[in-house]
Amino acid sequence: MDVILSRITATVIFSRENMDMAKHVYSFGGKSADGNGKMKELLGGKGANLAEMCLIGIPVPAGFTITTEVCADYYTSGKKIPEAAIPEIDEAVKKVEANFGKKFGDNSDPLLVSVRSGAALSMPGMMNTILNLGLTDASVEGLAKKTGNPRFAYDSFRRLIDMFGSTAMGCEHEEFEHEIHKLKDEKKAKLDTDLSADDLKELVKRYKAVYKKHVKEDFPQDPKKQLYLAINAVFNSWNGNKAIEYRRIERITGLKGTAVNVQAMVFGNMGDNSGTGVAFTRDPNTGENIFYGDYLINAQGEDVVAGIRTPEPIAQLNSEMPKVYAQLMEIRQTLEKHYKDMQDIEFTVQDGVLYMLQTRGGKRTGTAAVRIAVEMVKEKLIDETTAVKRVNPDSLNHLLLPQLDPKATAKPVAQGIAASPGAATGKVVLTAEAAVAHAEKFPNDSIMLVRKETSPEDVAGMHLAKGILTSTGGKASHAAVVARGWGKPCVVGCEAVKIDEKAQTVTIAGNVVKAGDFITINGTTGDVMIGKVPTVAPTMTGDFATLMTWADKSRKLKIRTNADSPADALKAREFGAEGIGLCRTEHMFFGDDRIAAVREMILAESAEGRKKALAKIEPFQKADFVGIFEAMDGYPVTIRLLDPPLHEFLPQKDNLAGAQAVAKQIGVPVEKIFERVEELHEMNPMMGFRGCRLPLVFPEIGDMQVRAIIEAAIEVQKQGKKVVPEIMIPLVGTVDELTILKKRAIAVIDECFAKAGTKVEYQIGTMIELPRACIVADKIAEEAEFFSFGTNDLTQMTFGFSRDDIKGFMPTYLRDKILPIDPFQTIDFNGVGELMKIGVEKGRASRMAKHNQHLKVGICGEHGGDPDSVVFCHKIGMDYVSCSPFRVPIARLAAAQAALGDAARDK
Ligand code: ADP
Ligand code: MG
Ligand code: MG
Repeated sequence: MDVILSRITATVIFSRENMDMAKHVYSFGGKSADGNGKMKELLGGKGANLAEMCLIGIPVPAGFTITTEVCADYYTSGKKIPEAAIPEIDEAVKKVEANFGKKFGDNSDPLLVSVRSGAALSMPGMMNTILNLGLTDASVEGLAKKTGNPRFAYDSFRRLIDMFGSTAMGCEHEEFEHEIHKLKDEKKAKLDTDLSADDLKELVKRYKAVYKKHVKEDFPQDPKKQLYLAINAVFNSWNGNKAIEYRRIERITGLKGTAVNVQAMVFGNMGDNSGTGVAFTRDPNTGENIFYGDYLINAQGEDVVAGIRTPEPIAQLNSEMPKVYAQLMEIRQTLEKHYKDMQDIEFTVQDGVLYMLQTRGGKRTGTAAVRIAVEMVKEKLIDETTAVKRVNPDSLNHLLLPQLDPKATAKPVAQGIAASPGAATGKVVLTAEAAVAHAEKFPNDSIMLVRKETSPEDVAGMHLAKGILTSTGGKASHAAVVARGWGKPCVVGCEAVKIDEKAQTVTIAGNVVKAGDFITINGTTGDVMIGKVPTVAPTMTGDFATLMTWADKSRKLKIRTNADSPADALKAREFGAEGIGLCRTEHMFFGDDRIAAVREMILAESAEGRKKALAKIEPFQKADFVGIFEAMDGYPVTIRLLDPPLHEFLPQKDNLAGAQAVAKQIGVPVEKIFERVEELHEMNPMMGFRGCRLPLVFPEIGDMQVRAIIEAAIEVQKQGKKVVPEIMIPLVGTVDELTILKKRAIAVIDECFAKAGTKVEYQIGTMIELPRACIVADKIAEEAEFFSFGTNDLTQMTFGFSRDDIKGFMPTYLRDKILPIDPFQTIDFNGVGELMKIGVEKGRASRMAKHNQHLKVGICGEHGGDPDSVVFCHKIGMDYVSCSPFRVPIARLAAAQAALGDAARDK
């Protein structure tokens, strides 16, 4: 018994000691600080940087930070500030008092403080700052006397009652606002600054009444009580709904809590020799190395950003307060040299003396991120690797899409869902057929396809359009998914759009637009504008190009592109693509000049009939491949044989007009069309008669495609160019599917060689997009010379989700975290990713064992352009990723960051 008891006491003593040893409060002020800038986890970002600024000699009002661990303890001990922290807080207050030569709670010359929240990551939803804490009925008089400025004293007091009431005690800020507006009306005052000291005294009275009404208690007259209530409120806000929701959405886990910063007040509202401002050390929009910000004279705290008065541009401070401005410019330098990054700062000037109140890494656009990174290397602030690590790959989007000309002034008339970024302007067409017809007549016109929604039979028209606007559908609608795949600007679900096909008009929020008139969409914001708004095309030049060459020095992955046309191929090469990872031949079947022959082929009743129709398509296919080989000039080109089910080339089931048009087009009775449509109809096309199943049943289709590829390759090779076609057979699930098709392809190829009297180098491989293919990858690799993971289908097949049918449940899945991320955006590492790993390992091992060859492995799903997925591909040892042309630079940068290890992704 005794033994047990003594053991228990020992543990208690031990843990008490442990607790006592932990420091709860970190002071800062003057040129010293208990903490430093590296201690973000413990002190929060704001607290750590306040300490750091002190350490490097920047003027910061003294204060202290209560750690995030205290916040965690607060919750484990039933929402109580831990005992052990209290003497430390009181001690820290004394230090601030000594530093400032004023006493907290003194009635004649009070020390006032601000109470500021601050977690390791900046987080909306945390408690707003309370300023001027410590003022009471008695000390406000003292402050008025001491400063000889009663207006200032009462202004500070009324702000405290408002901020303390609304942020710590649950009053409505609007009710305080209501009172000040009422008073301003009564006094005929235009600006807050027009209110006199007596007016503000009156306002304080009214504010206190508002406070009492809500809190059922008088405004606390004990500064200590104010302080502790405020600290509690900061801790409580950590688990407020807004903060929880934000952490959920941003997937922030593992933080201990928020820190609390208590800091001596400095006053920007003391008169015309005072003021407050916010600034960036460089322009956060363009990245230009200029001081960028705003300030207000005679103002406090958030006045600058709250829109109460229009602030002045920071450059103007140079004429108003030249000394302060010069000092600020020096601090700007010091901070950048120290942090080696662009900073976002807050400052206050009290009676001509400058104080810094915050610094942190500044948020910036992609354009600015690139320019700043490159210029900082030139300024020798950072090295190339740091620059490469620092730019968030996704932010490059900003540089890669056509943008609205920044000089344009057009106002949006409606807003839909931003489905695929970039801006586009074009003439309205209301059907895909009309788009095709229009493009034929006026090949140089820009077309805007406006539809209720789109379907697979619209893709030809969609492809020709510069942008797509639909009145229904969400981010996963057909229009959205297809447009994103192509990097084409798209706005969906714009309910303000009413289409009248008969009248050939679209009414957009009351504006009637005729077919053929211009409209403009911004797929980045969802905005729709009437008329032609100029756009600017992206290019890869200057700093952007420089950063990319630095990225290329580090990356191990090769970057290829998904491209179906010479134009796309050229664009991708301009962006640095090192080959084509996926050339989809079905898009070549859609051109108006060939779709008739394709349909003829589908309707043919015999192999002979099909061959006849295919013979008409073959020259087109060959010409397309010649164009692509020429564009890729020696880089490898992976060409996928026809993949979609044949019914995608026919009108949909109950489309009578479409069927009639096709009947006329190819000269068969309309009943025959219906019959065939009926025959080909599938309950679940995603898992239907598609992929390698097509040439297995209709070998002549595969033969034609292989011949077109090889003959094109021979032709281009004859021009003296190097050509490396890689023939890719889609949707293989068993090795026999591949064996049969490969054998047949080789026979066709040998025939081509014999006919031409020459040979080209080629490879035959497969797309891995079925779970079964991953599992039997060793067998498949005995036949395949390369693997390309089609992660779109692999994700569909692994989850059993049809991507076109997820809209009913995916939003719930994501909201309730049933899935942590959308697996169609970022590879599901644990499931789909594991299958990929198995596929790579088994495939590589077997190819090596059987043929003593390295199996080339890549990925060609949309994931190839997703930075996190690229990192995953790097980790599992792939040779390349392939993505849409406009994501090539993003993939290059992500691949470099994958090779360099953790990147600074917190921007
Ligand atoms: P946020 O995280 O919302 O920026 P802050 O804690 O930085 O909140 O503060 C809000 C405003 O109050 C800022 O303009 C800041 O500069 C100002 N402020 C905070 N503490 C003080 C202080 N001790 N003296 C003067 N102004 C302060
Ligand atoms: Mg701030
Ligand atoms: Mg596929």
